[in-house]
Amino acid sequence: MRTVKLPDGETVQALGLGTWHMGERGSEHDREVNALKAGMDLGMTLIDTAEMYGEGGAEEVVGDAIQGRRDNVFIVSKVYPHNASRRGAIAACERSLKRMRIETIDLYLLHWRGGVPLSETVEAFEQLKSEGKIRHWGVSNLDAGDMNELHNVESGNNCATNQVLYHLGERGIEWDLLPDCAAAKIPVMAYSPLGQGAILFEPALQQIGDKHGATPAAVAIAWVMRHEHVIAIPKSSDAERVRQNAAASDLKLDAEDLALLEDVFPPPNGPSRLAIL
Ligand code: NDP
Repeated sequence: MRTVKLPDGETVQALGLGTWHMGERGSEHDREVNALKAGMDLGMTLIDTAEMYGEGGAEEVVGDAIQGRRDNVFIVSKVYPHNASRRGAIAACERSLKRMRIETIDLYLLHWRGGVPLSETVEAFEQLKSEGKIRHWGVSNLDAGDMNELHNVESGNNCATNQVLYHLGERGIEWDLLPDCAAAKIPVMAYSPLGQGAILFEPALQQIGDKHGATPAAVAIAWVMRHEHVIAIPKSSDAERVRQNAAASDLKLDAEDLALLEDVFPPPNGPSRLAIL
């Protein structure tokens, strides 16, 4: 499995596991746990979750899935913007730790920008780091202007990632945010790399998949991962689909594949507002 370097030199898996919509229905619990375990068995040891997902339910699913293997997993979670104040972020993080039954979150993100000043959230994140409750912090859904602002607040340069929407059908970040983050050596974490399933019916993905003996989903993920500093976090609650998605790690798209995808899913031709789900 390919890895990506965080700004401090630590490496993480370039292909991880999303968890949005997990933990919402008790009847799905075992299936969700099994899907995450299947992914970890295949080396997808970065798991992305958030206090928002299932209002804590997804973090509980993660907690169950990582039992007995905590040391081999890199956990990413996120704080709601309305909890991202100096005291609020610390309390929210402690609740997340409890739900996942772990001592430390590996990477803790501001889920999106809200009313709390970035400087205050960063202060809370730095305190959590010094107390050992998180190891790295980062942001999500921040546009290029927000990132500039972040770099100008105290300790803002300690940001380890920006998690944003990126898939074949949504390429806006290629205009500025992606090159800016690459220049600052901040990896981008691509969320919804399958376009939440919507792009998978495009015949070009099937055609390229057939050529490589892979699924359209693996092609879509491999396309996102063609950048050396991008981490992809597809979500599936189905162990078989997780296996299909894991195949993206070894799938090398050639020039012909990339040209075909470029025709069907054109790149941005100017700046645009950061797309957010
Ligand atoms: P994805 O692009 O990962 O797509 C998930 C959907 O695709 C699900 O409906 C899933 O269904 C389906 N799917 C997964 N694998 C396959 C496959 N091989 N074949 C066909 N269908 C498949 O969307 P997400 O929005 O879930 O994004 C991924 C993760 O990114 C989230 O789970 C979350 O962790 C994170 N995220 C972060 C956001 C943020 O604001 N920071 C916003 C959105 C997502 P099924 O489960 O039934 O297989």
